[in-house]
Amino acid sequence: MPKRIAIFPGSFDPFTKGHHDIVQRGLKIFDEIVIAIGYNSKKQNRYFDIDLMVNKLEETFQNESKVSIIVYNKLTSNLAKDLGAGFLLRGLRNTTDFEYENSIAQVNKYLNEGLESVFLITAPEYAAISSTIIREVHKFRGNVDEFLPYTIE
Ligand code: ADP
Repeated sequence: MPKRIAIFPGSFDPFTKGHHDIVQRGLKIFDEIVIAIGYNSKKQNRYFDIDLMVNKLEETFQNESKVSIIVYNKLTSNLAKDLGAGFLLRGLRNTTDFEYENSIAQVNKYLNEGLESVFLITAPEYAAISSTIIREVHKFRGNVDEFLPYTIE
């Protein structure tokens, strides 16, 4: 049987405990998961530095050989083709996520017919965690350690 490779794409600005939970649960389904950080070097609009995030993720998953981390700047559906990945892994927190994910999944299916999107429902303890809120708290020097699977200065 061919390897079941999934891409977990996102901005991950920052990668949270909610994202971490999706990866861990995804490992029960897939042989390999590629965490793919979407990044456009011409639009420098990230809050957390891309290299810092890659380092933190490499550290977080250092003992998990089935997980790798990459940065990409192309259509996710094309990235999947390039990596030979048959699945896109995404997390669903609420109906707002659903509406958004529903339309992206339709487009991705149109662009790459062989690609299946797989959604995991967020664990209730992580459902309230969002990268946007973490950025706000961090900006005003609040402690965000509780929401991240690694520590950040
Ligand atoms: P994007 O910019 O593509 O929305 P994000 O980094 O915000 O990327 O999220 C990547 C994926 O993780 C999305 O499928 C999103 O719904 C999911 N996600 C975001 N926050 C959580 C969370 N707290 N728990 C589980 N999944 C989440």
